[in-house]
Amino acid sequence: MPSSDNSGFAPEVFSTNSAIENNELNVAGCSATRLASEFGTPLFVIDEDDFKLRAASWKSALEKSFALHAGTVFYAAKSFISVEVAKWINEVGIGLDVCTGGELAVALAADFPADRIEVHGNNKSEIEIRRAIEVGVRAIVIDSFQEIERVARIAAELGTIQKVLLRLTPGIEAHTHEFIATAHEDVKFGFSIASGSAWKAVEHVEEQDSLRLAGFHCHIGSQIFGIEGFSIAAARLIELLAKYRNHFDRQLPELDLGGGYGIAYLPGEESEDPHGVLAALSQVVNDECAKHSLNIPFVSIEPGRAIVGPTTITLYQVGTTKSVELDGGLTRRYIAVDGGMSDNIRPALYAAEYHALLANRRSSADLVSSRLVGKHCESGDIIIREIDLPEDIGPGDLLAIPATGAYGRSMASNYNHVPRPAVVAVKGGKARTIVRRETEKDLLALDVVEPAREN
Ligand SMILES: *Cc1c(COP(=O)(O)O)cnc(C)c1O
Repeated sequence: MPSSDNSGFAPEVFSTNSAIENNELNVAGCSATRLASEFGTPLFVIDEDDFKLRAASWKSALEKSFALHAGTVFYAAKSFISVEVAKWINEVGIGLDVCTGGELAVALAADFPADRIEVHGNNKSEIEIRRAIEVGVRAIVIDSFQEIERVARIAAELGTIQKVLLRLTPGIEAHTHEFIATAHEDVKFGFSIASGSAWKAVEHVEEQDSLRLAGFHCHIGSQIFGIEGFSIAAARLIELLAKYRNHFDRQLPELDLGGGYGIAYLPGEESEDPHGVLAALSQVVNDECAKHSLNIPFVSIEPGRAIVGPTTITLYQVGTTKSVELDGGLTRRYIAVDGGMSDNIRPALYAAEYHALLANRRSSADLVSSRLVGKHCESGDIIIREIDLPEDIGPGDLLAIPATGAYGRSMASNYNHVPRPAVVAVKGGKARTIVRRETEKDLLALDVVEPAREN
């Protein structure tokens, strides 16, 4: 551990405005104990200024790196969205990528401008497509042959010409956990370039009077470091842009390289720097376009995790601890908190790793190998498999897990009928709820007792 301050405060995994003050964790002027006593635990605490700063830095990095050819930064709503967050995104002036009708509904509830929304999804329903076209989204990213027909038909019925992109699989596997790699061939997403189905999709879209093909999209995976994967993807998409130009004698204007930029989860790791990665990517795009004598298209990106991930901590309260004897005379210390896999499924789903910090006090006790677990009826309900934590941690202590902003609350479930935590935004010493905590009443609201009807 690079820093042993309060047994594990490592600035690289906490939001910009986090610090240890008066012996406890403080985020944007709000102390962990005050947040926990006012809002309860488990609690997602999001650093509002940090969120806007990160969103703005991806925007300025894209504009600086691609200059006249900068497209749009689309924040990937699936990483975490709420009405308030959609307003922040709008305020920063970037776009939004949604992949369901529900995410679109949140954006619209926030009065997010539809012409800055891009619509994804490998199985969009007729209703989702119709709504997207009716509200005037900027583009629909088409994922299958049936969808070409479906979007074309609905656009024709509504009397419009819909701008579309094609999602392509460039045949690479990003260096990350298998379940979050999406661009090798054997995946449910997109049209494969290598098999020729991408080109068939191009020809098919061109035959539709109600569709206007604007360019190509890919998303090669998540939690990716370095630009190698993005470079290969860009090169393959640009090659297809050249094939299009050669065949149709005009150029498609847009290239969307998706999201996936990696962040620091553990002390000693480093989040991708937007300026570094986009400057390098811009060089690749320039070179590849030059190779094919192609005008440089507008380049867009879709970071989700890289914007929201580092902005948020989860605050848990410790309920019980126990020591378990292992083979060879070793003991394992279990620390159980009041949440777990229902508010953070990533360790169970992807073997994702996290850091934890004793948040409510400073301890000078010895560090002991510990396992941080949740309260769910599942042995796999583990938040951190192994971490050194002060030996005196016990009931009532608060633990902060940093970098839980992406795919934490957004993937939360009600497993074991545990109400989902609130999300509180902190800024300048003030805290406010932006997503309220679920209650038992919310949980029961969907249960109905009805007489059976003829069917
Ligand atoms: C998930 C996803 C993203 C965002 O990925 P991050 O790893 O959060 O940056 C962007 N675009 C598409 C199409 C996605 O499916």
